[in-house]
Amino acid sequence: MVATRPTRGQSMFKSGTPARVHRNPFDDVLEQIDRAAAVLHPDPDALEPLRHPRRQVIVSVPVKMDNGHLQVFEGYRVVYDNSRGPGKGGIRYHPDVNLDECKALSAWMAWKCAVVDIPFGGAKGGVACDPLRLSDGELERITRRYISEIFDLIGPTVDIPAPDVGTSPRVMAWVMDTFSMKKGYVEPGVVTGKPIALGGSGGRLEATGRGLLFITRETLKRVGRQLEGSRVAIQGFGNVGSNAARLLHGAGACVVAVSDVSGAIYEPRGLDLPRLSAYYRETGQLRGFPGSQLLDNAALLRLPVDVLLPAAMEGQITADNAGEIQAKIIVEGANGPTTPEADEILARRQVMVVPDILANGGGVVVSYFEWVQDRYGYFWKEKDVNERLEEKMVNAFDAVWNTKEKFEVDGRTAAYIVAVDRIMEARSLRGLYA
Ligand code: NAD
Repeated sequence: MVATRPTRGQSMFKSGTPARVHRNPFDDVLEQIDRAAAVLHPDPDALEPLRHPRRQVIVSVPVKMDNGHLQVFEGYRVVYDNSRGPGKGGIRYHPDVNLDECKALSAWMAWKCAVVDIPFGGAKGGVACDPLRLSDGELERITRRYISEIFDLIGPTVDIPAPDVGTSPRVMAWVMDTFSMKKGYVEPGVVTGKPIALGGSGGRLEATGRGLLFITRETLKRVGRQLEGSRVAIQGFGNVGSNAARLLHGAGACVVAVSDVSGAIYEPRGLDLPRLSAYYRETGQLRGFPGSQLLDNAALLRLPVDVLLPAAMEGQITADNAGEIQAKIIVEGANGPTTPEADEILARRQVMVVPDILANGGGVVVSYFEWVQDRYGYFWKEKDVNERLEEKMVNAFDAVWNTKEKFEVDGRTAAYIVAVDRIMEARSLRGLYA
């Protein structure tokens, strides 16, 4: 089935404006490298190259619009690192896409791929455009021209794009077709997140939610708790949040609250997820689900639960609300849901934060499986995909947890240490070329 993009009026972007006025996100990347370096004490000469993206490209994307006029969009592609394998990272269509954002997002992809230990570096790209204001034809022409412009820089052994904010399996099908037509043969491995009919992988759509299930279960185990009966609140009911909710419920957790952009619902005895999913599919809303109380979004974050799972957008847990969070564990389903200021408050309050680059890595792991299947032209059963995903996520969790205990650091710092250490080891073994 080919997924369609949201229609006008539906929420696709995490917000019109960022939840906080943020400094350059690339400064955060540099800070993360420093945090890891403060523990690892690497040779400064070995560390320095890690502070610079491998390649940054800006292209013009001229497109004939439906009104007959030509419009030129700006497109980007950054490969942060390819010491462990080809670049890997999404294509974002959003009006705010810019080079610094792509640099930061590509670095986070590099950390994530290293933490879940898949043979990819990090990359990211996109086009500064508003897909909600574009027709399908305009979207297709932007995609084809953008891919033509970066054609020499992508490929299954070079840099492999995937969907991100504002792009979908439909867009990935155009990426695959454009690349294949220019090559003169079919090359499904150039992009992941494709529709199943074009070489997509079973289990990809729910992979991030499934990875969150494994990570939540492992975290609870390490603090002497079990998933069964643990109370969970989930912010966001899109791909990540709804799949995480359904799978956690199926594994015996008590999902007491969920929310979407329009509000939250709460049932202290636990929501009936199969019925809620059917209700949401039918009505397109959470509000009015029989037996649940309506809450505002801010209240969901403060509920008395064991696990809080933010799965909506960045910058949700801030210095303003971190002091009121009652959950003892936060598992980051979204990218960047916790601000650095909130991190400090949570650490003081001994709230454990399982960081995004570990917790939501399930999506990129199954993207890796998709690439593997495309490259050898043999597709696995979904059951096999899910089992291999579990193994990868549990191994990644153990590596981060053991690092956290060894160096007595918080989970986020531990994840950066694992990532930076693995990337630096690969770089050092390869040496400096020429
Ligand atoms: P999505 O667009 O499918 O869903 C987002 C959900 O968040 C929607 O239900 C929306 O209504 C809700 N939302 C938006 N603002 C909200 C608010 N203020 N309060 C409560 N709910 C709100 O997006 P997604 O693919 O589920 O991604 C969610 C997050 O997970 C993003 O940060 C994304 O970058 C990250 N992520 C996604 C994947 C993936 O495979 N889809 C992988 C890794 C990380």
